[in-house]
Amino acid sequence: MTSKHDYFKADCSKNEPEILVAHSNGEQFYRCKNCNYFGTIESFTKPFHTFEILQQH
Ligand SMILES: [Zn+2]
Repeated sequence: MTSKHDYFKADCSKNEPEILVAHSNGEQFYRCKNCNYFGTIESFTKPFHTFEILQQH
């Protein structure tokens, strides 16, 4: 299954999220140690769907 990390960083051989920011509202953001991809943990773990990208515009 392809995650957003895998989609945007197709050349990244490793998916290595480490926590970078933790907001007081409970939101947490992660960065891939290997390629510096930045996003929520869902970006690293959840399956990627094309329609999610289309809806972001
Ligand atoms: Zn990566």
